[in-house]
Amino acid sequence: MDFSTLCVHGNDCKYDNTGSVSVPIFQSATFSHPGVGLSTGYDYSRLQNPTREHLEKTLAKLENGTDAMAFSSGMAAIAAVMELFRPDSHIIASDDLYGGSIRLFRNISEKNGISFSLVNTTDIAKLESHIRPETKALFIETPTNPMMHVTDIAESARLAKSHDLLLIVDNTFLTPYYQKPLDLGADIVVHSGTKYLGGHNDTLAGFVVVKESELSEKLRFIYKTIGACLSPFDSWLIIRGLKTLAVRMDRQQESAMKISRWLMSHEKVKAVHYVGLPSHPDYEISRKQTTGFGSMISFETDSEETAKQVLSKVSIIQYAESLGGTESLITYPMLQTHADVPREEREAKGINERLLRLSVGLEHPDDLILDLSRAFEEE
Ligand SMILES: *Cc1c(COP(=O)(O)O)cnc(C)c1O
Repeated sequence: MDFSTLCVHGNDCKYDNTGSVSVPIFQSATFSHPGVGLSTGYDYSRLQNPTREHLEKTLAKLENGTDAMAFSSGMAAIAAVMELFRPDSHIIASDDLYGGSIRLFRNISEKNGISFSLVNTTDIAKLESHIRPETKALFIETPTNPMMHVTDIAESARLAKSHDLLLIVDNTFLTPYYQKPLDLGADIVVHSGTKYLGGHNDTLAGFVVVKESELSEKLRFIYKTIGACLSPFDSWLIIRGLKTLAVRMDRQQESAMKISRWLMSHEKVKAVHYVGLPSHPDYEISRKQTTGFGSMISFETDSEETAKQVLSKVSIIQYAESLGGTESLITYPMLQTHADVPREEREAKGINERLLRLSVGLEHPDDLILDLSRAFEEE
């Protein structure tokens, strides 16, 4: 079955006999037992809920996994994965991760005795030198946020396997429509479902997807114990969002290509980071491991003044955090997603006062270009 059909009909299981085309929202905290020692398969919604299960089964299929767990946010999903590791474990992670993941690692996971090496994971040859006897996992995000660096997933998986490490991939930016990390050898995929999967900037969600049953069992135990599960209504919103995932992403990518070309030609733009541009240093790896480039662009303006002016003058594009939704959003990574990252570290990565990040939505690209063009103009 094609991916776009799976998005609509991913889980064809019926939960009632009314013929309802839309999955019902089972707004129930608990489920009554048909008899002593018997269960309908549903006991309590922290463990399992039919609406959420429908979503989880759909996402597991989309990622070619066997189990998916739906969390109340992307951070809840990543925090749950960190519970797999005992104190004294060491994890190697990309140094250009989502700011919230770095905050989690530094302030929560480290307190629990897990140590991290944040390194440039795009350099596979060097990556091996960071592996220690206590290293348990490799955590990558590709492309990264906001600099759009790409890590070779298959090569990372090979390295991880040879050292008995778990490979964890944050697949938020491309989604399984464009990139399937489990097929490339990853053990765990995490998502902020708040972004493209939900796609409408209206709800938070997170996912963990795995292939192996042993990992699934461990994570299901953590899931029911911690309780950061997605509510039935929010599950339904993500089910609805997923139905249009493929069409949304194709259209957003097409617009992103057009906008990044326009930005490249603008005199006040010094650099454009979009993996779909053949001039992007990681264009070839992207073509090898993905079926699309997504619609996240970051670009460097000529000055701090220009960057701030664009943020204050855009009107269709909204100055807001988050990404992947129907509405185009622009952010100032330095002050928003990466506010907690020390200045020197941030600037060394290119996240300076001139850098803006744009999430291209579903508005007509010509309107977005006109909006940006006006925002660049001086009064
Ligand atoms: C937003 C985001 C997260 C965190 O997800 P929330 O749903 O906001 O908790 C994690 N990783 C990436 C790449 C993100 O963009």
